[in-house]
Amino acid sequence: MNEQLRTMYKKAGIDDAVINFSEKCEESLIDRFKDIDDMAALCQMKVILAMQKNRLSAQCFSDTSGYGYDDVGRDTLERIYADVFGGEDALVRAQITCGTHAIALSLFSNLRPGDELLAPAGAPYDTLEEVIGIRPSKGSLAEYGVSYRQVDLLPDGSFDYDSIKKAINPKTKIAAIQRSKGYAMRPSFSVEQIGELIAFIKSIRSDIICFVDNCYGEFVEELEPCQVGADMMAGSLIKNPGGGLAPIGGYIVGTKDCIENAAFRLTSPGLGREVGASIGVNRLFAQGLFLAPTVTASALKGAIFAAKVYESLGFRVLPASDELRHDIIQAVELKSPEALRAFCEGIQSAAPVDGFVTPEPWDMPGYDDQVIMAAGAFVSGSSIELSADGPMREPYSAYFQGGLTYPHARFGIVRSLQKLYDECLVNRELL
Ligand SMILES: *Cc1c(COP(=O)(O)O)cnc(C)c1O
Repeated sequence: MNEQLRTMYKKAGIDDAVINFSEKCEESLIDRFKDIDDMAALCQMKVILAMQKNRLSAQCFSDTSGYGYDDVGRDTLERIYADVFGGEDALVRAQITCGTHAIALSLFSNLRPGDELLAPAGAPYDTLEEVIGIRPSKGSLAEYGVSYRQVDLLPDGSFDYDSIKKAINPKTKIAAIQRSKGYAMRPSFSVEQIGELIAFIKSIRSDIICFVDNCYGEFVEELEPCQVGADMMAGSLIKNPGGGLAPIGGYIVGTKDCIENAAFRLTSPGLGREVGASIGVNRLFAQGLFLAPTVTASALKGAIFAAKVYESLGFRVLPASDELRHDIIQAVELKSPEALRAFCEGIQSAAPVDGFVTPEPWDMPGYDDQVIMAAGAFVSGSSIELSADGPMREPYSAYFQGGLTYPHARFGIVRSLQKLYDECLVNRELL
């Protein structure tokens, strides 16, 4: 670190010991960072070529209101998403309000009363418990007569193929696989692993719709789930693919049939994708997608840096700093509520927006435990921006993600370490 930057860090309240320690950690990551830059270059080309092929033009940035018939920008962007993510078709809409909504829409639109939803790779993300009806909720799939079956992962984290085979029955309509770990201490799945699981399920019954919750996975690997056999996948635009610019939104990519069902459910039978004004988001969606590969790379570098820092201090981290990445989430097991709080306070105090506030645990809608969240984001709740959150439960893991730029992600992690250092929640001898 050059002297000018060191001076700035010290002005921001970082001790020399913390600066030196973090610098040592960073130096050991040069080769990994190079690999991430290479992946960003590859994904950047995918995006540019899809934009050119679909003739993205300035005209696409004009906006529609009301019904939104003939919204050229919206329709062009949906073709671009389909190409970038390897599906036949896509829905990319401001009217899809978040990731949970995109996933719920995928499921509700393709399931009918009497069908069964299978989770072949363990429990789904917390917010989906109410969508499915695992935790009773108004309007859940359970209320509509859709049953649910779950096969947990084996103790070593691999798929339980025998039990999956037994769980598949004539009612099984969709198999839903979550790529990212969410709030669980299990590894995230690689696209290759997901492809193997899909191939197995299809070998038993080829008509089962294989769905992937792709949240946080976009642009981390060369291939995306639809390129290894998934019929449908969904995610949030205030995560990776929105590149930090999308102010709202979700996407679904998949087969023509799955997407058509989703469109008729999103708006109305008979109307489908023809309505849904873009109300000014077309340029932000397109420009965000254009930036998404490098923004994702920044977040990945931040995650790996965090892993290195905290594993060097004896904390359990998932994944480890030298493991291959399948998403941008970094889990750090902080082992006490005090340490989880301090970590989140550190991240918050590095934020460009709301850097002066102190995060407090709260009862967040859709989650069972209290959740503490650190986020100082330009787009409210955006988790492609530097953020950390964690449920207030054992083992007090912080889930760290995002960073529109690596210098910011780096500063956030150093700030979190400084907080733990100040409160003697790390072994100071190790620094
Ligand atoms: C974030 C996330 C969701 C839900 O997305 P929201 O936009 O928060 O509703 C679902 N699944 C996974 C794995 C996620 O990370």
